[in-house]
Amino acid sequence: MPGGVTSGSRRNEALGRTLYFREAAGSRLVDIDGTTYIDFTGGSGASMLGHGHPRVDAAIRTALDRGTMCTAETEAHVELAERLCELIPSAESVRFASTGTEATLAALRVARGATGRDKILRFTGHYHGMHDAVLVGWTNAADPTGAAPADSAGVPEAVRDLVIAVPFNDEAAFTAAIERHGSELAAVVLEPVSYNMGCVPADPAWLRTVREQTRRHGIVLIFDEILSGFRMGIDGAQGMYGVTPDVTTLGKTLGGGWPISAVVGREDVMRVLGPGGGVPLSGTFTTHLSAVLAALAALDVMSADGFYDELNARSERFVAGLRECFEAAGIPATVQGVGARFAMYFGVTEPVRDWEGATRSNVAMSRALVREAIARGVYFADFPGRKVPMHYGIGASHSDADIDAALDALGAAAGAMDPATYETP
Ligand code: PLP
Repeated sequence: MPGGVTSGSRRNEALGRTLYFREAAGSRLVDIDGTTYIDFTGGSGASMLGHGHPRVDAAIRTALDRGTMCTAETEAHVELAERLCELIPSAESVRFASTGTEATLAALRVARGATGRDKILRFTGHYHGMHDAVLVGWTNAADPTGAAPADSAGVPEAVRDLVIAVPFNDEAAFTAAIERHGSELAAVVLEPVSYNMGCVPADPAWLRTVREQTRRHGIVLIFDEILSGFRMGIDGAQGMYGVTPDVTTLGKTLGGGWPISAVVGREDVMRVLGPGGGVPLSGTFTTHLSAVLAALAALDVMSADGFYDELNARSERFVAGLRECFEAAGIPATVQGVGARFAMYFGVTEPVRDWEGATRSNVAMSRALVREAIARGVYFADFPGRKVPMHYGIGASHSDADIDAALDALGAAAGAMDPATYETP
């Protein structure tokens, strides 16, 4: 296995090795040595309901009882599509896939198919998966014309030419890019809350400008809500902002820990999908019955009265507690949280609004915190090669006692970090 892992981000760089786990339940992870951790990684956001939520587990047992069906449409598939149309403001039409990478790939092709244009505009620091088009301008700032380097070897030069990257939350840069490229752009794609830079929300006025300008230029606006979907409310970030894109991608917690993603959007745009339209999209394992039933169960749990009031309140309490831990330890840090996910920016004392701000965070300090936290039974993943803070999360399975215990451990972890040891980058 290259790098000793089966998925590139699983090595824990703060530890300098991969932690191998044995099992998980609720808010807890257990490693192969039998050490139990309170988990704040939450399957990179997929396990927001906790590991093995009883309702989701019951759905999986039902799927087993009905036979392991691949490539078969059922009433449950239709029900899931209808539920998404009820819940997500931009959803008039729905197509499923299994992962976020597949969903954003499909959404961009749909936008290209619908507009007959080739170029896309994205924002530096937003992550949209691992396919070629979105591995340009992700982790390297673009030049003033919007040209950016590829983030991976193996991305063809020709693909680079089709991607314009601009800074997030920068009205002047966005407007200039639209004036220059507007008529060539099939899509503008963005994370409305960019958790992949830690936790950076869109400025509401900026987001409205993006909506207006894309509409004016006939560009398909795609909200990549793979991570922000269901994170702060059942209608996602688009519900929170009251800004409706043309197309949305959903994934992660949609399946309650099982692999399912979705592309949802305006009926006239989605109509380009086959059969009927010219953009084919299908897969052997797409909408496996197990994942469909898991998603229906997850939506039931997340739609329950008071679910988000409780989740958001617990998250706010944790974020406030974290700030106190760092203050008490004399460690300069900004903690930003929206809904159930948050990030810690070390050595930063001002709000972070964009990639440039996020890269000012001291990576060595965050790695020290992760090491000290893991030593005290609190688990945080730490991706290799990252330039900005990780996003971490609270889940429905974190009890008040978990939050208290984790804050005690993190207070001690912060106290064990020596701020003088780490230079600000
Ligand atoms: N889009 C966003 C906003 C994400 O956060 C992610 C994953 O972190 C993806 C796309 C890719 O999803 P997946 O890892 O399921 O392929």
